[in-house]
Amino acid sequence: MPETLTNLINNEQVPAASGALIDVVEPATGAVHARIPDSDASDIDAAVAAAKSAFPAWAQTPPAERSRLLLRLADLIERDLERLARAESIDSGKPIALARSVDIPRAAANFRFFATAILHTESAAHQSNLPGPGGAVQALNFTLRKPRGVAGLISPWNLPLYLLTWKIAPAIATGNTAVAKPSEVTPLTAFMLGELALEAGFPPGVLNIVHGRGATAGAPLVSHPDVPTVSFTGGTETGRAIAHAGADTFKRISLELGGKNPNLVFADADMDEAVATSVRAAFTNQGQICLCGSRLLVERSIHDEFVDRLVADAKARRLGDPLDESTEHGALVSEDHLAKVDSYVQLARELGGEIRCGGARAEAPNDRCANGAFYKPTVITGLDPACRPQQEEIFGPVVTVTPFDSDDDAIAIANSTPYGLASMVWTSDLSRAHRVADRIDSAIVWVNCWMLRDLRTPFGGMKHSGLGREGGKDALNFFTEPKNVCIKL
Ligand code: NAD
Repeated sequence: MPETLTNLINNEQVPAASGALIDVVEPATGAVHARIPDSDASDIDAAVAAAKSAFPAWAQTPPAERSRLLLRLADLIERDLERLARAESIDSGKPIALARSVDIPRAAANFRFFATAILHTESAAHQSNLPGPGGAVQALNFTLRKPRGVAGLISPWNLPLYLLTWKIAPAIATGNTAVAKPSEVTPLTAFMLGELALEAGFPPGVLNIVHGRGATAGAPLVSHPDVPTVSFTGGTETGRAIAHAGADTFKRISLELGGKNPNLVFADADMDEAVATSVRAAFTNQGQICLCGSRLLVERSIHDEFVDRLVADAKARRLGDPLDESTEHGALVSEDHLAKVDSYVQLARELGGEIRCGGARAEAPNDRCANGAFYKPTVITGLDPACRPQQEEIFGPVVTVTPFDSDDDAIAIANSTPYGLASMVWTSDLSRAHRVADRIDSAIVWVNCWMLRDLRTPFGGMKHSGLGREGGKDALNFFTEPKNVCIKL
């Protein structure tokens, strides 16, 4: 029997008021493995009311006490690492080894990072000496940072617990209360996080988790008059709808959206590292990471050799049951998503692209996975950089490779999409690394590496990849309101 999950509202585990449920499918098997509340505006209202009434006391709670609770939650996540990693793998189709080494440890790290960050904050003060009608006026300005109230936090399916906790941790650490709406596609670890928050001892209403669909649970959260802050990670079109909805009530909104990240490989790069990391950047989590390097741009003199090695490595990836310890390449998140990915590959074929490997559904790795959504790692060459498969986010195990002839050529192609999230540059020439990094329109540039993340650095996108930044001080600032007090001396 599939497990039936509940919402967490005011520290009570409750079904949707309507009693309606949504089936959750395990992508590796096609079977329903859980049901979640199909929440609507009335459930969101109840959660926001709980968060609103918890806010004054939580905002006044000493940072050291908030920190203690967040650290406790991080400990509990680590205690349950195996259980959480297994749930994440079942829910999303990602290899369990990846969930165990990346997703779940990072969720614990998110809580630790912000639990300790709030113990070391500073506020600005300005000693003022200003001209006045009767002579100089002395004043002292100081800037307080106050929590803003109820934060609405909405996350996608590709890194379920990792991205949800990336929002919850800074929101509640800084004294806000939260209503989180995880993806309806991968809700399991969010439910488990709610159980752990209860065990950690958070006061009622500080963290509320409401499951449901975007249109019926996400949208009422965004438009709720008692929610001044919304942090969203997901697709660009959803982000656009959220920006419109939030404008009516003057919300502060952070949007982390899609990407079509260029990966530039120059002839002077360390070929072994560039190939190995480009394969990881293209195919980790079956290419379903917003930071994936889905557009490889390779200097013409090394293009053919690079493609041969890339294809060999892509073919060698161990595709398997996500619950198998040795699997590197699991299932896509759903059959619908597989159909979308495949439609781009078919389009690439029609446009004259050469499918160098993959380009089709993969055989099921075992009987358990007979109905799973498996797709082969796919490398495509020979496409015009302006065509749709090179311009639009595919969000699957598909990488295109395009040759370039000069720095200017590479940068022009890199900057030719509407997106601007991340980019990679492979070169052993330090000056070129600086020059190219400076000219690429992306908010994150990795030189000779990929996905090396220091949580203090600004994380986000420019152009259609988002608004605002998460991480470090940016997150602390986003979830707090600066209030300047000026005292005339
Ligand atoms: P999605 O936009 O379909 O859904 C994301 C979340 O928004 C889900 O919880 C969904 O229920 C909710 N939602 C949908 N419509 C809504 C609405 N009208 N109002 C409020 N909430 C709504 O995205 P997805 O398919 O779950 O995730 C994949 C996308 O996320 C990709 O485009 C990927 O690039 C992007 N992403 C971006 C980042 C980043 O940091 N920039 C990270 C991960 C994923």
